Amino acid sequence: MVNLSIFETKAVIIKTQDFKENDKLVWFYTEKLGKITAVVRGAKKSKSKFLALTLPLCYGEYVLYKGKNLYTLQEGKIINSFQGLLNDLSKLTYSSYLCELIDIACEDNEVNHELFRNLVTTLYLLNTDALDYEILIRAFELRLLKNTGYNLILDNCSICRKKIASANYISLSYYGGVCEECPKEHGLYISKGAYNALRFLMNMNLDKLYRLNLNEEIKAEIEKVITFLISNNYAKRPKSLDMLKFIKE
Ligand SMILES: [Zn+2]
Repeated sequence: MVNLSIFETKAVIIKTQDFKENDKLVWFYTEKLGKITAVVRGAKKSKSKFLALTLPLCYGEYVLYKGKNLYTLQEGKIINSFQGLLNDLSKLTYSSYLCELIDIACEDNEVNHELFRNLVTTLYLLNTDALDYEILIRAFELRLLKNTGYNLILDNCSICRKKIASANYISLSYYGGVCEECPKEHGLYISKGAYNALRFLMNMNLDKLYRLNLNEEIKAEIEKVITFLISNNYAKRPKSLDMLKFIKE
């Protein structure tokens, strides 16, 4: 007989919290079930087989049993623990930020294969020394917005839908670029360089981002636009943003 309450899925651990004397509550961002919370029995005991499997950022294949309110972790296998990210302050802060974004932007049990793939790819790239992490994070943020229903329209004017090569204004009510003719209201002026960079970040594969070089002014402009969109669209503002500012100074 098949037990329908047992699930096997790949997942990244986005948050953990102590629970009762020996247990842990673990927030998994899973490929097949979306964001779920599971109780992990005995996870705090030093000999627990679950100890390494339930560290923050761990990416693995997990078997979960669905109870009335919570899932229970039955077993798991690490694919990449990403614990190397914890040894570097900026990587640690960026990866905590990614997890916090997922937590803020995703409802429980909302399955999103593309966003899951984007998160895992971004963690792998963050774990290398191959590219500018700020650029990588911005590209992830744009994908997160897109994957959760806030796609920024950049190839067409977001008001009249005419195809545009570039623009110097982003409308926050129409959600995208505005052509020369359309009204510039409720939005932000940005340089054409920043506009084009936004488009590159959106369309370029994450693993090709190392080819992109942006100067500090353009990075600052892009950050302003994206941070605005994130703070406005989701119910909570990510706390790690302050930490990111702090390590950049
Ligand atoms: Zn227009």
